[in-house]
Amino acid sequence: MATQTQTPGSVQQRREVPRRSAGWGRRVRFARHAVQLAVVGVVAWILAQAWLGGSAGEVFCPFGGFETAWTWLTTGRTVSHLHSGNLVLAAAVALMAIAARGSFCGWACPFGSIQEGVYAVSRTVGSWVPPLGRWQRRPAGPVWRRVDSVLRYGRYAVLVFAVGGAAVTGTLVFRDVDPWHAVLGIVEFELSLAFAVLVAVLLLGLVVPRPFCRYACPLGATLGLIGKVSPVAVERDASACLGCDLCTQACPMALQVHEASRVTSSQCIGCLECVAACPSQQALGVAVALPWPAAPRELVTVSASESQDGAR
Ligand code: SF4
Ligand code: SF4
Repeated sequence: MATQTQTPGSVQQRREVPRRSAGWGRRVRFARHAVQLAVVGVVAWILAQAWLGGSAGEVFCPFGGFETAWTWLTTGRTVSHLHSGNLVLAAAVALMAIAARGSFCGWACPFGSIQEGVYAVSRTVGSWVPPLGRWQRRPAGPVWRRVDSVLRYGRYAVLVFAVGGAAVTGTLVFRDVDPWHAVLGIVEFELSLAFAVLVAVLLLGLVVPRPFCRYACPLGATLGLIGKVSPVAVERDASACLGCDLCTQACPMALQVHEASRVTSSQCIGCLECVAACPSQQALGVAVALPWPAAPRELVTVSASESQDGAR
């Protein structure tokens, strides 16, 4: 629920978020990590099956469903190598985005989980090696913030390339550079452009959380756009906020949560790390509200533009 209060020179919106119980953050983190581990385990099992029996892992890619749906709608053709299972998965993740924004990315995407794992290992090593830890904790400078805000448009360029290329050629043009395709084919030990991209993403993931999700994932771009209609979002009650910035520091997508009233950025992956990190039980929470009419610009700092999303 939102109410507006007027202070000299500014308008503030009070968003009353549900009070969280003690231990809420720990339980949500545990649940999310359990789901992530389970999905990665299923993928590992599928890869083992592929290795033993030669089945194609591509059938489990929801983005393939979006590629073939667009191709079929615009040309009447389907895309080679794809399956009706891709369409079912695409419909499922689209429904998930309508219900809870990018929560598929934050909870279930195995490639997002792998990137998170790489960054977690890097942070652990950083805590043992003080110079590395200091470098990892340094605040983002203005140059990096600008570069980051421009790079975030990259995933829309990749989306246009992948979906448009599939519609024009009838083939999966993105597959040749898709790091997830390289993961699915890893048992074949094939050195390819996609494998080189995978290595680059994992190396960058040592210093930037979820770099592929932030800058290049066409599925994340699609779900972020669909999720704009979702009534569910993280909200902050400024009157209960301590101004500690821990929510922003915890956000793997480097969104400026501590300045927002309602996090409606298409980059939010619904991981709830921000809420789990918040020391105030009433400052930050998940709330349901109609996506329209949009709140005034100054009240939704995070969603005002992708370029304001900011970087760590
Ligand atoms: S704003 Fe919160 S829920 Fe969204 S990506 Fe950042 S930490 Fe996760
Ligand atoms: S972590 Fe909580 S108290 Fe701290 S700035 Fe964010 S919303 Fe406010």
